[in-house]
Amino acid sequence: MPEPLMAAPDSPLRLLPKVELHCHVEGTARAATVAELAAKHGIPLGVDDPDDLYTYESLADFLNAFGTVCSVFLEPADFHRLAYEAAEDAAAAGTRYREMFFSPGFHLDRGVPFHRMWEGLVSGIADGETDHGVRTRLILDVDKPKGIGPAMALLEVARSLDRDLLIGVGGDSTEQGLDHHMFEPLIAEAQQLGLKTCFHCGEDGPAENIAIMVEAGIDRIDHGTRLLDLPDLTKRVVDERIPLTSCPGSNVEIGVVESLEAHPFVDQRAAGALVTLNSDDPTFFRYDLADEYERMSATFDLDMAEMVAIRDNAIEASWLDETDKAALRAEFAAS
Ligand SMILES: [Zn+2]
Repeated sequence: MPEPLMAAPDSPLRLLPKVELHCHVEGTARAATVAELAAKHGIPLGVDDPDDLYTYESLADFLNAFGTVCSVFLEPADFHRLAYEAAEDAAAAGTRYREMFFSPGFHLDRGVPFHRMWEGLVSGIADGETDHGVRTRLILDVDKPKGIGPAMALLEVARSLDRDLLIGVGGDSTEQGLDHHMFEPLIAEAQQLGLKTCFHCGEDGPAENIAIMVEAGIDRIDHGTRLLDLPDLTKRVVDERIPLTSCPGSNVEIGVVESLEAHPFVDQRAAGALVTLNSDDPTFFRYDLADEYERMSATFDLDMAEMVAIRDNAIEASWLDETDKAALRAEFAAS
């Protein structure tokens, strides 16, 4: 198999200032950091080389690895390091602004209190912004298979969090065997609290799950890979300009799409959808946002103007207010 295309340090697409809307902070954990923290806490990883954690053939394999990686983050200092290194790596990919998921469910399961995780993430994000110029906002991600009860309990915790930092609520993990109607109260309640909402759907499940979440009033669709299967839904998503946070590389890595060439990203864009490009879990898939831009540009012969337009979609699709969006456009135009 040929080596996957990566963006060189001086690649124009790496240097292009970018916005990312679909990236999980746990999915940015460096293998070396995971190994160090595992040793510090005496947690067995089950592999000799921590790099071997990041291999999978399905979403189930991936979620298993994700759980193992999450298990080494126990103290505020661990979460600080996670968020700080995420910013450092984002800067190297040209990312200037990121709306990033964190997944409390995985940590609460291991007895890590919410405040310990939050404290570390908040300080890591602040230091990451100071040192690396990456502005980060957080999306609380519920673990869908746990059901609506734990999801609503997390939302209750969200009430007291700093709204300058926590801007939205999302839902993640497999769609298999889950009736997405159950999350309708979560969307309604989150929006009542003034939080934006998004949900992973149409990834390893059908386009009908996207339809359910759109009907529930979702603000943004995560993945939405199956969107084009339903023409009426596609028309609505296009007409209402409901953004999609597409992660083509991730879809290929976990096997929901056969190859980048077979990914519907370009067709979704041609249909008029507001599609953005994202890395999802950059260290787990071994390429960052710049690599994702490079691979899509090469695979679909998209020139720089087209890639800039795709980047600009992410500014529009972000949850910044109009003043901040204008400021970001001006900043990017000047760089
Ligand atoms: Zn994701």
